[in-house]
Amino acid sequence: MADTIEVLIPEEQIDTRIRELAKQIDSEYAGKSVTLFVTLKGACFFACELAKRMTVPIFMEYIQAASYEGTSSTGTITMKLDVPDDAVAGKHVIIVEDVIDTGRTLAAVKDLMQARNPASLAVCSLLDKHECRVVPFEGDYIGFSIGNDFVVGYGLDWDQKYRNLPYIGIVR
Ligand code: 5GP
Ligand code: MG
Repeated sequence: MADTIEVLIPEEQIDTRIRELAKQIDSEYAGKSVTLFVTLKGACFFACELAKRMTVPIFMEYIQAASYEGTSSTGTITMKLDVPDDAVAGKHVIIVEDVIDTGRTLAAVKDLMQARNPASLAVCSLLDKHECRVVPFEGDYIGFSIGNDFVVGYGLDWDQKYRNLPYIGIVR
């Protein structure tokens, strides 16, 4: 039987919010070049839409984090796809994420990137499930704060399905 997807955030609303985020980032980084570190796979839809609406010079890099659950309760984050040190050092880096949930992934990725001496480091996430945090973590640019629902669409998958939905939805 086909899954039912309930629309949580329609496409037009996402589009409007991405324009606002792009404008805000443009003004805060005026006169600088920005490197967007796109976290694969989920954030690539959001990152492209954001990048197209920014006017400061941008560079794109792609990273992928993987978490391994060991015998202890905390998962360890490793980089499945990484960038060379010189893509970080001295650069204005914005990590672009699809959703911040427990905060574990981004807390670890941000620490790894910070250790490589960027000129500045910020995090931009389309979605933030703030009530789900396990480790303290705050994003710098957030599209939408949402509740504790598993969402799909706009790059986000459910077992690799539904990434191509043009809206954010909840699988019922
Ligand atoms: P965390 O913040 O828990 O370390 O991990 C965030 C990652 O978990 C996201 O990048 C995403 O891959 C996945 N994730 C968390 N919540 C959701 C959700 O509601 N839907 C989907 N598709 N992935 C999620
Ligand atoms: Mg992700």
